[in-house]
Amino acid sequence: MNFLEERILKDGQVLNSDILKVDSFLNHQLDVELLDRIGDEFYERFKDDGITKIVTIEASGIAIAVMTARKFGVPVVFAKKARSRNLDAEVLISTVHSFTYNRDYTITVSRKYLEPDDRILIVDDFMANGLAAEGLISLCEQAGADVAGLGICVEKGFQEGGKSIRAKGYRIESIAIIDEMSENMIKFREQ
Ligand code: 5GP
Repeated sequence: MNFLEERILKDGQVLNSDILKVDSFLNHQLDVELLDRIGDEFYERFKDDGITKIVTIEASGIAIAVMTARKFGVPVVFAKKARSRNLDAEVLISTVHSFTYNRDYTITVSRKYLEPDDRILIVDDFMANGLAAEGLISLCEQAGADVAGLGICVEKGFQEGGKSIRAKGYRIESIAIIDEMSENMIKFREQ
């Protein structure tokens, strides 16, 4: 069992059998040592891929992205969840359906910060149905940048995101993959 799986078993909480709460170390209070190890792990897995930028989505992806970017020595660009419809032409836009809040929202990133010669590593805390990741992939591709892969902390393997994004040819590296969970049991995929 790896460090993140151990921590999930120790401090994670399963809600309604499909939401895992990790507020005490990843989503609200942040365990910086753990984030540092997550950064190391993504660096190990993608260090030979010519990564020029780490891309994520606000808010919970940012801390993970920052720690990862530190290892690669590259900037972080985080997509913003837009409130206004007055978006200028210099902004790339995608629509995402939120799994946790069950609504659609718009994500944006300035064209200035994603360029055609970028090789992007997308990182996020969770992969569920994969819609946040697809929105980020779309922003990168609208900019003409290459998506080298996705680094995910916790993939819920019983939801469709991982399967469908891998089927489109993208590389996903998940530190923990949960195949099954209930209030008193979490089963990780052997990797
Ligand atoms: P997706 O777009 O893959 O369906 O969902 C990804 C986003 O929803 C993640 O960025 C994360 O914020 C949130 N999310 C999805 N499932 C969970 C979960 O089980 N626990 C938590 N804390 N967030 C989740």
